Amino acid sequence: MSKEENLECSFCGRKKAETDLLIAGMDAHICDKCIEQAHGIVQEEVSEAIASSLSEDLTLKKPKEIKGFLDQYIIGQDETKRAMAVAVYNHYKRLLQDKDEDDDVEIEKSNIVLVGDTGTGKTLVAKTIARMLNVPFSIVDATVLTQAGYVGEDVESILSRLLQTADYDVEKAQRGIVFIDEIDKIARKGDNPSITRDVSGEGVQQALLKLLEGSVVNVAPKGGRKHPDQKFIEVDTKDILFIAGGAFSGIDRIISKRLNRQAVGFGASLEEDKIQEDNLLQYITPLDLKSFGLIPEIIGRLPVLSYMNPLDAKTLRAILTEPKNSIIKQYEKLFKMDDVAFTIDEDALDYIVEKAVEYKLGARGLRSLCEAIFTEAMFDLPSSDDKEFNVTKDYAAAKLSNSTLKKLRAAS
Ligand code: ADP
Repeated sequence: MSKEENLECSFCGRKKAETDLLIAGMDAHICDKCIEQAHGIVQEEVSEAIASSLSEDLTLKKPKEIKGFLDQYIIGQDETKRAMAVAVYNHYKRLLQDKDEDDDVEIEKSNIVLVGDTGTGKTLVAKTIARMLNVPFSIVDATVLTQAGYVGEDVESILSRLLQTADYDVEKAQRGIVFIDEIDKIARKGDNPSITRDVSGEGVQQALLKLLEGSVVNVAPKGGRKHPDQKFIEVDTKDILFIAGGAFSGIDRIISKRLNRQAVGFGASLEEDKIQEDNLLQYITPLDLKSFGLIPEIIGRLPVLSYMNPLDAKTLRAILTEPKNSIIKQYEKLFKMDDVAFTIDEDALDYIVEKAVEYKLGARGLRSLCEAIFTEAMFDLPSSDDKEFNVTKDYAAAKLSNSTLKKLRAAS
């Protein structure tokens, strides 16, 4: 026998001739069958490790703690923070439910829909939850989605982004969170679904359904149709948490109409409760989403419905300084890196908020206002000997000319 034929697998003892492949190491060999078996063991260990890290997450964070974490980053919006905390807690309970348990109770997914004006913190809430859970997070804009075969992106592209943020780790992506922005823009146009083909409205809603409820989807890792030869990756969406958000502009009229109709029927009880006309969103129900043009199946797959309050001056003021990574704290840090002690007077902060309200710039505008006020200092101070920078109301007012403010309003 030649030396070559004498070789055998150091793990199972099979002779080279009995294997399809024998790989040589430093002073041992391994055959294809043993490699396959070892791979199976590794896979099993990995999934056990994931399951146990999940249980750790769960024991660590009860709904109250989840809300406490959100409180550090998000001002107000208490109803939504509570609803989110419970939904996320239940979502993770669902992941941990004992699949072998001998009962027929299966916990369903708690996907979420958030209704509220742009800039009220919908994305922030979703992003903060993902940060807390340390899971991949991606944001997609529903307006770019179209029904398969039409110009635009297929709904599967939602998962391409998630895969990218998970560094193509499928297991990780399958536990991620996807924020679908502007879900209201894919509302059905008109009440009669068969008037015209509605490829960017109801068609997309139909396509989204299977993603939301959980199914195995073939995903093009690089997304889009620009790379036709790429290999598809299978992604199971059953454990992905979907959070949809939208401004649903005009839905207050739908709510008001419904409330008035109810008032005719059940007048007494509603009169007692006194409807707050200035914030009708708080009365929103799934029925209103249906009247707006979401199909009932989609609404059913987004069982947690919550709303965002409009931001008043007091909230905007708190947003400037209170969150853990508030805008002002960020500037403090930026200046500190140049050894500059940055301070800002209370009335300067009030002035910024006043302008944000006056020019209807919302929370996003706070950042643009600060940029306009601090840019000159951020340009000059790093190469000067000044180690202190105090912003007074007069300084802020001098930097914010009317033309700057008008520009900001036009851009918002
Ligand atoms: P939306 O998704 O509703 O359009 P975003 O979440 O993108 O709004 O909010 C825009 C920005 O405004 C955020 O980056 C955040 O800095 C700020 N912001 C909005 N609402 C809040 C809030 N309640 N607490 C803290 N910051 C907020």
